This record gives sequence, structure tokens and C-alpha cells, in this order.
Amino acid sequence: MRRVWLSALVAVGCLGFAWALGRVAWALPYWEAPKALAMPVEGLLPAQVHSQWHAVRPGGRRHEGVDLFAPKGTAVVSATRGVVWRKGWDSLGGRVVTVLGEGHTLYYYAHLDSWADGLDEGDAVRAGAALGTVGNTGNARTTPPHLHFGMYRVGLLGVTAVDPAPALRGGVAGEVTRSSPDAVALSQRK
Ligand SMILES: [Zn+2]
Repeated sequence: MRRVWLSALVAVGCLGFAWALGRVAWALPYWEAPKALAMPVEGLLPAQVHSQWHAVRPGGRRHEGVDLFAPKGTAVVSATRGVVWRKGWDSLGGRVVTVLGEGHTLYYYAHLDSWADGLDEGDAVRAGAALGTVGNTGNARTTPPHLHFGMYRVGLLGVTAVDPAPALRGGVAGEVTRSSPDAVALSQRK
């Protein structure tokens, strides 16, 4: 009887270890942050990105992200490779997509007019993959169409919002970084 219990314990231990190993292997591709992000709105140039980081919003909120203005229907693409974490509706964000991507970060795309055909939660996406189109759903109803793009770094102690503007402009201020090939390709496409 004792031997049965011992084998069961060893089996559970092995399963747990395999599970943990699987989680680590799954997370590894997203560990390192990209130096630059692909522009999430097609045709927009890095110079057209203006930081509205922590601008005051109604209800004592602070703006956590950048607003990228473009005509309704303009393609919204993934800024990094990753996995579609959530596809749904928020009261503020309207129609949204969240991608868990590089830099163990959640990339949040809000106010979408539509989702890309066939896009589903759990889909693996590369930088530049279609997610949807620019719109003004959610609390952007009364504003010109734009993509609200947010970044939330996932850490051991929770999730921290970070300003996406420096990465979208191609690097951290005062630092020369490589330009993402995806960002270049997208900004050159008309
Ligand atoms: Zn916004």
C-alpha cells in the first residue's frame, strides 16, 4: 500500500514538473522585449506618434497609452509577435484585442471598428499580423476614430502600465536602437 502511495506521489510530482517546464517553455519566446515595435496602425509614421502618457481623463483616471489617429477602417496590426489573449468588449475600450507578447507584456488595442477575419483567442500572431480596423467604439464614440494602444508589463507582483510612445518612435529616448523591420515595412507601405 505504501508503495502505491509513493508511486502516486512521484507521478504527481513528475506531472507538476512537466507542467512547470511547459509553462516556462511557453513564456520564453516572450521574455525579451523588442527594441522597437511594429507600428500598430498601417501607414502611420513613427514621427506621428505623440505621447499622451498620464494625461488626465474623466473620473480621476490617467491616460495609459497612446492614441493613434487614422481614418475609420485603417488596418490595425500586432506590434509584436505573441498570442491573442483576449478578444472582446470593454466599457471604455469598446471592441478590443489583447495580445500577450514579447517583453512579457500585454498589448492592448482598443476602440476597434472590426476584428480581423478569423481572429481568435489563442491564435499565435507575428508582428504586423492583422488584428482589426480603426474605429471609435467604447468611450471614443464622440471622438475621431483612433486606436488606443496600451502596454502592460506582467511581473511577479502584478501588471504595470508602461508608455508605448518611445518604443513606437523606434527607441528609448537618448538611446540608438535598431529599427524593427516590421515597423519600417509598415511605415513605407501606402
Ligand atoms: Zn486613449
